[in-house]
Amino acid sequence: MSEQTVIDGFEFARMGRSLCGEMDIPRLGRLADLLYSNSGRVGYTLQGKVDAEGNFLLHLGIDGLLHLRCQRCLGEIEYPLDLQARLMIVKDEADLVSIEDEDPEVDSIVVKDKIDILPMVEDEILLELPFSLRHFECDVRESPFSILKGRI
Ligand SMILES: [Zn+2]
Repeated sequence: MSEQTVIDGFEFARMGRSLCGEMDIPRLGRLADLLYSNSGRVGYTLQGKVDAEGNFLLHLGIDGLLHLRCQRCLGEIEYPLDLQARLMIVKDEADLVSIEDEDPEVDSIVVKDKIDILPMVEDEILLELPFSLRHFECDVRESPFSILKGRI
């Protein structure tokens, strides 16, 4: 089953549409080097809206569980995903500067009409992952919960 992940971004925001689904982990190709296995799941929700200033916004939520590879012992790390991103879509690079001055919490991206959600999901996951991925205390077998503590 290959899920359609291309939307018309401006229409999606203007109509206040929402979408949710799951990404096949093998399709998230830019994560491939980091994965211990393709098991786990990546779910996403996307909500479009137009704010009071008429800006087109997409709220992207990602949750799930990845099985990543420890860069030190090459063992498996269960890595829970739970992240939110607010993205503003603009048609023109000229619009980017003024918007980012206004609200540093919002990432703005230049898009044509069509947006593929898959690379957006990849981007947000890659931003979230630690630079050097390893077990919290690599020599000791750790539960996923202690790995979580190590991230905070
Ligand atoms: Zn390790």
